[in-house]
Amino acid sequence: MSTAPQLSVVMPIYNEQEALPLTVERLRPILDGLGVDYEVVGVDDGSTDATPVLMQKIRQDWPEFRIIRFSRNSGHQAALKAGLHRAFGDYVVSIDADLQDPPEKIPEMLALAREQNLDIVYGVRGDRGTDTFFKRRTAGAYYWLMRRLVGKRMPSQAGDYRLLSRAAVDALKALPEHQPVYRLLVPWLGFPSGEVVYVREERVAGATHYPLAKMMRLALDSITNFSAAPLRLATYLGLVSFVVCIGLAIHATVSYALGSTVPGWSSLFIGMLFLGGVQLICVGLLGEYVGRIYSAVKARPAYFIGYDSAEDEQRGPGR
Ligand code: UDP
Ligand code: MG
Repeated sequence: MSTAPQLSVVMPIYNEQEALPLTVERLRPILDGLGVDYEVVGVDDGSTDATPVLMQKIRQDWPEFRIIRFSRNSGHQAALKAGLHRAFGDYVVSIDADLQDPPEKIPEMLALAREQNLDIVYGVRGDRGTDTFFKRRTAGAYYWLMRRLVGKRMPSQAGDYRLLSRAAVDALKALPEHQPVYRLLVPWLGFPSGEVVYVREERVAGATHYPLAKMMRLALDSITNFSAAPLRLATYLGLVSFVVCIGLAIHATVSYALGSTVPGWSSLFIGMLFLGGVQLICVGLLGEYVGRIYSAVKARPAYFIGYDSAEDEQRGPGR
């Protein structure tokens, strides 16, 4: 592409053979109707179904549909990173490929950003009625915790459906993070921002790729990315158990002096187990951080680009 488009739409895609045709069908008329130059950056996160073939087909009659393919599955956030780093647009919108983020909101986001000169427009979920009870609860807990870590700037219920200006994208690109968690980093930038409320729809086809294990991973990454507070937890737990132990020691001495027998095995054993547990938790916490320091020091890229239709011969690590 010779001149930079005004808008890039970044879409991580992983095994979406059922949803993708429907998404394209709804997305294309909206983008065509905007009257701006645009590109859609479809990031194929190492799909193993018919998605890659499908994407090639889509590109054949939709030249604005650009394809980036990873060498293997690297995760939603890595796909987002590649898309943001390689998008050319003056504004970049990131959106899921399963129509859970209604593409009809893109014109609204763009208009808001232009009118008010905003660098960030969050898509905020007004209603999670279509999500399962479990997902709503875990998401609620996640956002509650994240607001405490990042501060009030973080809008609650804002996922990865958002618009960024070129300035915001360049700021994100300059960060050294290897595994960025964008929904925390974007508010942390502190750029002027606005919100567009939308209703989180049901996934149009296929199944979620975010099972509990991946959700836990995202939560752990988010916490350790933004705070050393869990490490302090170790100190607090240590202090509490120290105070309890002192109390018990005094109690034992006093009852001995009063002639009654010192309560025996069970209290001793409980104390021992408690301290052992506290120590293991603390070691585990340290491990979480040491593991992340280790992977940061190794500095391995989060993904490898196998193919980019914008630079057909491109091959190599993505940063
Ligand atoms: N996705 C991805 N790599 C993955 C998992 C998911 O690129 O390893 C994409 C997926 O195709 C979708 C978006 O990320 O466009 C959100 O994933 P999903 O809908 O499965 O998550 P949920 O909406 O259930 O949280
Ligand atoms: Mg989804």
